[in-house]
This record gives sequence, structure tokens and C-alpha cells, in this order.
Amino acid sequence: MLQNNHNLIAGEWLAGESVIENRNPSDLSDLIGEYAQASSEQLQQTLTQARMAQVEWAAYSIERKQSVLMAIGNALMANAEDLGTLLSREEGKPLVEGKGEVFRAGQFFTYYAAECLRQIGENADSVRAGVEIDVRREPVGVVAVVSPWNFPTATASWKIAPALCYGNAVIWKPANLTPASAVALTNIIAQQDIPKGLFSLVMGSGSIIGNELVNSPLVDAISFTGSLPVGKQIASAAIENLTRVQMEMGSKNALVVMDDAELDLAVTNAVGGAFGGSGQKCTASSRLIVHESIHDAFVEKLIEKTTAMKVGHALHEGTQIGPVVSEQQLNENLAYVELGKSEGAELACGGVRLDTQHDGFYMSPGVFLKTSNQMRINQEEMFAPLASVIKVSDYEESLAMVNDTHFGLTSGIITRNLARATHFRRNARTGVVTVNLPTAGTDYHVPFGGRGDSSYGPREQGKSAAEFYTVVKTAYINAGIPG
Ligand code: NAP
Ligand code: MG
Repeated sequence: MLQNNHNLIAGEWLAGESVIENRNPSDLSDLIGEYAQASSEQLQQTLTQARMAQVEWAAYSIERKQSVLMAIGNALMANAEDLGTLLSREEGKPLVEGKGEVFRAGQFFTYYAAECLRQIGENADSVRAGVEIDVRREPVGVVAVVSPWNFPTATASWKIAPALCYGNAVIWKPANLTPASAVALTNIIAQQDIPKGLFSLVMGSGSIIGNELVNSPLVDAISFTGSLPVGKQIASAAIENLTRVQMEMGSKNALVVMDDAELDLAVTNAVGGAFGGSGQKCTASSRLIVHESIHDAFVEKLIEKTTAMKVGHALHEGTQIGPVVSEQQLNENLAYVELGKSEGAELACGGVRLDTQHDGFYMSPGVFLKTSNQMRINQEEMFAPLASVIKVSDYEESLAMVNDTHFGLTSGIITRNLARATHFRRNARTGVVTVNLPTAGTDYHVPFGGRGDSSYGPREQGKSAAEFYTVVKTAYINAGIPG
């Protein structure tokens, strides 16, 4: 398969105005490559071309669009081994997670391939006699996709797949920390039967090329996943141009463990939810809210399991936790460990930089005990392999604590009590709620998104995606005149 480190500008693979190095966080001596940084002229060029390509693409038959999406999905799934390895090598998640992510991204495309054929509108009689109404969706136009590094292929794909499905052009600004996965996905898309310039890759720094993209009046819609501060900047830019915007941002997810919880299930879900992907998930269970009667037993097993987790090179067999993504992330994480201690939390295990065989950004998973929900470590998103235990004396207190945050992406409860599980499901103020499952792990055929500062705009995925990637047209037809 064609492989280069260039941007895809107006349908051509082009070098940029500079390059960045992409190094393996598991082993800094491993230089994955140098990647082009798009220039402002290139961005303008590709925006102009995208507008023309979009019109052409929208006119493709639904079966022709379906074939394109199906081919992208199949190629991702068929190449999940290679592309997943590349993803793990540049991002640092264990190989099994990297491969799983690429395969899952393929499924997003095959799901939306089928959705190409399911674009069915509504019809109605007018209140005026003899007049009929046809309500249908049309593409929104040129979509800017700005994505993060933590799920470099999956997050981008769950935006790109519906954007293309509903007849739009896409300009993709991936995170600069994970350019190899971006080039790999773009390679697959570029090889399909699509109009020249329908899909563009503009790698570059967020504050330069990303900022220019989201401020462009040539963009009709922006789908963003990333941090809250960047999201706020993008929202202001979007409002200025009245550009449609959808944003998924940070969170501070809580997992409640009730007194009647099955202990092993609780611990397994807590460990998986807190430390999967080195805790670098927007759905990570970073607050563990535990009933006092089960607290000590839970904590004992939690520490035992956390300490036993194997931290190592992402591509090595047996690794359960890879390195964190960058030096900056590692330093921020270690600063949060110090902050937690200074706030009075007790660090029960981990939370330190590890010296391993390879020079990388390794850190042991850490658990804080004796924490209160008001501490900054329980209010700010850390995006680290760190979890805090908060002890509560009853269900009501736990629910209040779950909701005492300005975020609201996911929350979960471990309980055998149906009434409590139901009450929790109905009263937790998060966009996603789980019962006897980890807070992380979501499907693609149903809506995804949060409340509060976690999300802004329409939900992603499933049928919800149509809300964002289309505009509704209402047509009135005078059907009362016989020919
Ligand atoms: P980030 O710093 O906000 O970056 C996200 C993307 O925005 C990157 O591509 C970045 O480019 C770009 N960007 C940065 N500044 C920009 C600007 N001024 N204008 C336009 N684009 C700009 O987030 P991150 O560090 O990559 O990812 C971690 C964050 O993502 C966490 O807060 C996490 O919670 C969140 N996240 C949320 C979800 C969710 O669904 N809710 C899912 C995953 C992750 P560069 O980084 O290349 O400069
Ligand atoms: Mg960043």
C-alpha cells in the first residue's frame, strides 16, 4: 500500500512547509517518521477544492457512496493488524487495543455504508388542501474534523464516516502526536472512487493550522473532540461565522460501588475503567465512589490488582499498560500526584515514573485513598493512570457526588439492587450511564455524548449523526392541479 508522510491537499499528496518528528513513546530511540505540516496556502487551496468536490459527491448515487464507505471499512478491518501496530507504536496503547481500535474504526465505516441506503425522509399533507409536503435531509457541505491523539483512528472515523455517508466533504486536522495513523487512514480513503479533493488531510499544529481551519468561513460544520479549553476557543470561532459545531470534551467520570456489589466485578470494572489506555480516555473511571461497608475489602483488592498490572512497551506481549503519550503528559500526571498528596490524599500505590528497559514515558498506575470530591484531583480531568477512591455512607450521597462536577460524560454503578440501578440510570446527570459495566466502552449504532462541559451540540454516532451532518429541507408541492 502507498505510504508517505505528506498531506492530502486538493487530492494531491504534498510536502508541507515544515516537518515534525513522530517518536514512539515506548522507546524514544524509535523514530517513526517525519510528517508534513500543512501551510496556510495549502489549507485555502484544499478548502476551495472541497466545495466543488462536495457537490459532485452529493450527486453520486446512494449505492455508489455505500460502496466507497464499505471499501474503506473493509480495508481498515483487513489491515487492522498492520495499522493497529502502527497506532500502538505511535500512541503507546497495548497492541491488542491498537488493533482493536482500527478494526472498530472499520466497523464505523461499514455501519455508515449501510446508512447511505437508509436516508429516508418524511412526507405529510399540508394544512392547505391539495398541497403535499416532502421533508428530506441534504448534506451540510464542507466539514472540518479536528480529532485527538488518544483514539487517533476511531475518533476520527466516527466523524469522517457519517460526514461522507451524508454527502459532505471532509477536511481532517488530526492531532500532531499521532500523524502516522492519520496518514494510514487517509491513504485508504484516497484510493477510493471519490471526487478529487473530497477528503483532505491537513496535519499541522492545532494552534496554527487547526485554528485557521475552524475560523474559515468556507467551513460549514466543525466536529471536534479534545480538551475543554480548546473546545471553548473553537466554539467562539464557530459562533463568529455561524458555523455548525459539535464538540466532545473532557470529563471526570465516576463509578459507584454499592454495599451489595459483587466485589470481583466491582474491582475488575474499576481497574479496567480507570487504567485502560493508561487512563487516557474521556470515559475513564477516575473517581471511584465506594460505600463504606465494602470500602476496605474493595480497596484491598483494588490495590492488589493495580499493583499487579504489567506496565511496558506497547508492542510487547503481556503489556497491560503502555507508556503515557508524551513527556508533557507524563510531567502533568506526576504534578497531579504531588497535588493530590498536598491536598491530603493518601497515595496507596503507583503514581511514579518507571525506569524500564526502553527509554519511554512509563508511569505506574496510582490509587489515591482518603479523598474528598472537592479536591482538585477529583474535579479536574487528569487523563492519567490515576484513580481516586471516595468513601460514602449511602446511595444518596454517592449520587450527589457523581453529579457534583461541571462535566457529565459517563457514570456507572455496581449494584445487585434493581431499584437502585434504575434510580441511578434515571438520575445520574451524564450522557452515558452504565450498570455493572465499566464507564468506558461505547457502541457505534447508538448516540454518544455528554452533559455539562463534556459536550456541546448534537450527539455523535448512530442515527444521531444525521442531525449534525445534514440540513433539513421542507418542500411544499401543489399536487392539486390535474394535468
Ligand atoms: P486537545 O489539545 O484539545 O487537542 C485536540 C485537537 O485539537 C488536536 O488535533 C489539536 O491539535 C487541536 N487543536 C489544539 N488547539 C487548537 C485550536 N486552537 N484550534 C483548532 N484545533 C486545535 O486535546 P488532546 O490533548 O489531543 O486530547 C485530550 C483531550 O481530549 C482530553 O481532554 C479528553 O478528555 C478529550 N477527549 C474527549 C473525548 C470525548 O468524546 N468526550 C474523547 C477523547 C478525548 P494538536 O494537538 O495537534 O496541536
Ligand atoms: Mg494537546
